[in-house]
Amino acid sequence: MRLGILLACTFLNVAAMTPPAPITPQPAAPSPGPLRLGAMTVWALQDGRISLEASLLKGAAPAEIGRLLGGQEAVMTPVNAFLVRMDGRTVLVDTGIGKDPEEDAGHLVERLAAAGVAPGDVDLILITHYHFDHIGGLLKADGTRAFPRARLLVPRQEHDFWLQEPSRLPERLRGRIPKLKAIFGAYEAAGAFRAFGEGEEPAPGIRAVPAQGHTGGHTVYVFTSEGRDLWCIGDLIHFGAVQFERPEVGIAFDLEGGRAIRIRQELFQRAARSKAVLAGAHLPGLVRLEPKGAGYAAVPAQP
Ligand SMILES: [Zn+2]
Repeated sequence: MRLGILLACTFLNVAAMTPPAPITPQPAAPSPGPLRLGAMTVWALQDGRISLEASLLKGAAPAEIGRLLGGQEAVMTPVNAFLVRMDGRTVLVDTGIGKDPEEDAGHLVERLAAAGVAPGDVDLILITHYHFDHIGGLLKADGTRAFPRARLLVPRQEHDFWLQEPSRLPERLRGRIPKLKAIFGAYEAAGAFRAFGEGEEPAPGIRAVPAQGHTGGHTVYVFTSEGRDLWCIGDLIHFGAVQFERPEVGIAFDLEGGRAIRIRQELFQRAARSKAVLAGAHLPGLVRLEPKGAGYAAVPAQP
């Protein structure tokens, strides 16, 4: 699938995307080395990149957004998955866009290999939400599971939002249902799929924090080891250069804009207070937050 089409499906806002000019496939930038946090080792795995236009942002004057973006009208933005090794387990959070010969995407398996991990080594996969830049790597091109030994855990609320009552899904999203059924059905048929409920701990040492707004069941995962917290925040933020300093600025991709803003503000406040390390699917690196004015400054996370 062409990225332009993919993004039209994923983000619903065709007009604001960079026109789907041919993109020369190229390797994504090398992933930085791992971060050690308590007994956890964390790798950001850049599956690919997407171009996001500044006009997607809502709730601030264009001049202010232009200032924060240094005058750029579009930003090349990473699409990350995250690898966490802890307590003898190998955990993947999200899986990127997946292979597409025409796109700069589908580098996840190479990134895992660079971290010394084969697809068959992954024990557990956690999904933040069902947009295709987060679940696209779950299947191989032949439709079989890309991670043959992994259990796939998803938030029940997100699963039901997309698949339980199609009549309640906005009509423009219903075309995605067959692909979602193929992806999750492959893991379900292998007995490797589970949807966990709100308040349920997906796995020991890992908590799921509801963060609805971006989608119907968007979820943040909190990993804790020796008092250190890693938050895999999915799409809680898209434009690091704007939305840390101005968390009240929304983005056109959010299903419920006001709710997405409120949960970002609330979770950023908690993350700054607890000095958690944030791992964002569309951020260039792992960061911590420090209060700055009415918002936050993101500082690179150190061990
Ligand atoms: Zn995303």
